[in-house]
Amino acid sequence: MNLSERQKQILKTMIVTIDGPAGSGKSTTASLLAKRLGMICLDTGAMYRAVTCSVLENGIDPGNEPAVTELASNAGLELRIVDGIPQFFLDGRETESRIRTPEVSGAVSPVSRYRGVREAMVRIQRRIGKKGGIVAEGRDTGTTVFPFAHVKIFLVADIEARASRRVKQMRAAGIEQDLCRTMENIEERDRIDSGREHSPLRKPAGAIPVDTSRITIEQQVGIIEKAVISEAERLDALTVRAGEKNPMTVKSAYWTVSRAIVLLFFRLLYGMRVIGGENLNFRENFIFTSNHISYFDPPLVGCAVNREIWFMSKSELFRNRFFAWLITKYHSIPVRRGEADRKSIKLISEKLNQGYSILMFPEGTRSRTGRIGDLKQGFGMIAFNTGKSVCPILISGANDLAGCFLRRRRLDVHIGMPIRINQGIDAEDRRNDYRTLAHMVREEMEMLAEASNS
Ligand code: C5P
Repeated sequence: MNLSERQKQILKTMIVTIDGPAGSGKSTTASLLAKRLGMICLDTGAMYRAVTCSVLENGIDPGNEPAVTELASNAGLELRIVDGIPQFFLDGRETESRIRTPEVSGAVSPVSRYRGVREAMVRIQRRIGKKGGIVAEGRDTGTTVFPFAHVKIFLVADIEARASRRVKQMRAAGIEQDLCRTMENIEERDRIDSGREHSPLRKPAGAIPVDTSRITIEQQVGIIEKAVISEAERLDALTVRAGEKNPMTVKSAYWTVSRAIVLLFFRLLYGMRVIGGENLNFRENFIFTSNHISYFDPPLVGCAVNREIWFMSKSELFRNRFFAWLITKYHSIPVRRGEADRKSIKLISEKLNQGYSILMFPEGTRSRTGRIGDLKQGFGMIAFNTGKSVCPILISGANDLAGCFLRRRRLDVHIGMPIRINQGIDAEDRRNDYRTLAHMVREEMEMLAEASNS
């Protein structure tokens, strides 16, 4: 398929996940797809295998959870591209030649069952996926690692097809393997992988199922490639081209003037910077979720994102009539705290559906320490009900304006990568979706905080 330059650029920002049981054709599909689309293949199974290999080489009993977890948490696993092929290096040593032996295959499922091992691997995987351009394959890439990936695929195939593929694959690598034993090994791994407590193998919400038992590799790559390109085209249509004005930015004269004044005020007095503004180059309105460290946060975010936003303020602020008039003029909606205020949620959702953006502070209250607290999940309900993307924001310095004035601190508004929830929907378990979304938003905010401190 011939890709345009713009499509290639968009693909470099996308995440595709391919999950499925052993032998369903994930590795071959993912690496072929990645090659065709100019993306990088992230073989997450190779990471669990590398850890297992190191466990065995160091004479650690795979049943010794604390020792295995410690090894995994301290493992210097790194993805390097060797001759165009992505490979994992463990503490500087290549792993590919040692991780596909029957010994490693026999021990990998018990090792990857441990929560600590999974957390360590997921952390590395999300860092690798941060910029996009990734085709991730494994057991939990669409459910746990990248639940809001742009395209999610779930491969299935019957056991005979999977076992004979594995035998052929091993033969090509010079290792003879018995078909019955391979079938047993695959069945045993399926049982452990699907039944484990942490991130069991299951079809991710919103994933496209592809049965590979009776189709060729060419056909299965073709089906997935089509789905990815069609998502890239959708994103392309949403993306604002260089030099083009984003139609979603502030339009009314009243907001334009107010924004200019506020921007000038923060820029001149406090040296305010906006970082990551390119993440908003989409014809989309957003649910902005920000940390809350000062009363200036709403105007700060408002001028940084250059969108006409609506936000909720605690109803106590509306007691003073002048202040109530002022904040109402700037799209503030009163919300009663400590209860599910259906009326204001309905109103703010209507604003989203009318094309406005909204700003929420999911920590619920201002934090004096500047540390990001637990996020309430209410914004998830609004996001899932309206289908709008969530854009995490991190404000730093606003709790110390005097320091910013004296230029001892920076006043920065960091704009994160929008999270598109269209792929995350699991109608059967909405609560789980809200929790996952809150988790991903918090993680993005923490990454922005880390970047701002470094
Ligand atoms: O895909 P592959 O067969 O190389 O994976 C080896 C093993 O690693 C799997 O059987 C599974 O136990 C584990 N794994 C996992 N989660 C992933 C990828 C692999 O638990 N995302």
